[in-house]
Amino acid sequence: MNKPLVIWDAGHGGSDTGAHAFGTKEKDWTLEAALYLHNRSKELGIPTHIVREKDITLEALPRTTIVKNSGATFCISCHFNAFNSQAKGVETIYSIFKGSHDSKGLAEKIAYAISNEGMDFRRVFSRQGTNDFDYYYMHRMTGKVETVIVEFGFIDNEGDYDKLRFKEFRIKLYEATLRAFCEHTGNLYQLPNSSIDVLDEYYKVQIFAGSLSGAEKVAQEAENKGFETFIVKEKK
Ligand SMILES: [Zn+2]
Repeated sequence: MNKPLVIWDAGHGGSDTGAHAFGTKEKDWTLEAALYLHNRSKELGIPTHIVREKDITLEALPRTTIVKNSGATFCISCHFNAFNSQAKGVETIYSIFKGSHDSKGLAEKIAYAISNEGMDFRRVFSRQGTNDFDYYYMHRMTGKVETVIVEFGFIDNEGDYDKLRFKEFRIKLYEATLRAFCEHTGNLYQLPNSSIDVLDEYYKVQIFAGSLSGAEKVAQEAENKGFETFIVKEKK
C-alpha cells in the first residue's frame, strides 16, 4: 500500500456508541463522515486510508495502531460532541506537540470552514494531560501522524441538532473539512461530481412564473447563482 497522506478516523463504533441524543448515535455519524471523506479524497486523487469502514468496536490501542501503521502524514478523527445540552458549535483539537505539518493551522482552517457553513465557532485548542503528554489518546498514541480531532457539533444541543439532523447539512460540513484539508496540504479541491448521488433525499424549490419568458428569466437568474433548473409547463 502506498503511504496515504491522510487517514480518516470514525470515532467510536460497535459497543462504544459515543454520544447519543435525540435518537442519534455518534458512532453512526462518525462512520458516515469518515467514509464520505475517504471516498471524496479518492475522487480528488489524494492518497487516503480509513480506520474503520464498518460498525466495529475499536479500543484505543488497536485504533491508534491502525493510524500509526498507515504511515499517513495526517489523521482526521471525526466526532460529534455532547456535554450538558447547552454547549454548541464546532471544536477542533490539535496536539500539544508542534509537528512539522502545522496541525494547529489545519485545525484552525477546518474549524473556520465548518463554522462558515453555519455551525457556531466554539474553539480550537490542545489539551495537556496530567503528565507531559497529550490528554487525548488520538494525539498521544498516534506517533508521528499529526492528528486533528474534529467535533462537528453537539448532538445533545437542540440548536446544533436541528441543523445536524439533515444529511445534506452534514455533507456540507464534510465538504468544508475536505476543502480546508486540501487548502492546507496544497491539493486541488473540486466539488463532488455527483452531489445528489450521495443523498438519500433532496428537495426542490418551485418558482412560479406566469409566462415562458418570465420562467426563462428566473431560471437563468438561478442558473447564474449555481443552481440546476428546469422549466415545467402546467395547466391551471
Ligand atoms: Zn466522540
